[in-house]
Amino acid sequence: MSDCLFCKIIAGQIPSKKVYEDDLVYAFEDIQPAAPTHVLIVPKRHFAGLKEATPEDAEIIGYMQLVAAKIGRERNIEDGYRTVFNVGPRSGQSVFHLHLHLLGGRDMAWPPG
Ligand code: AMP
Ligand code: ZN
Repeated sequence: MSDCLFCKIIAGQIPSKKVYEDDLVYAFEDIQPAAPTHVLIVPKRHFAGLKEATPEDAEIIGYMQLVAAKIGRERNIEDGYRTVFNVGPRSGQSVFHLHLHLLGGRDMAWPPG
């Protein structure tokens, strides 16, 4: 999608700190980290978010979680991390290209704010 921030990051038109990339996903450091590890995992194919997902997106949504687990293992944060989809404006979703937050490296409060 031409006017999408994360599509531009995937295309290299906006710089980012790449963490991982393959044919299906791109992962990069969040520009405003909320934890020592704060990585965003995004599908290369644009869709707006979880509530816009269709059954054909099931595989990529699961795959994003597995990529988060791989990065969590590599970052040595398996003693506690969180994977989060913000869904809709009231959740804080501000970029409408699906992205999974991977947060870790510190104690996490529950429930989240
Ligand atoms: P959300 O609020 O769930 O939509 O998450 C969007 C995330 O994108 C926020 O955590 C932002 O800090 C992050 N973000 C916004 N612009 C950039 C950028 N240019 N590079 C990396 N992360 C970004
Ligand atoms: Zn996009």
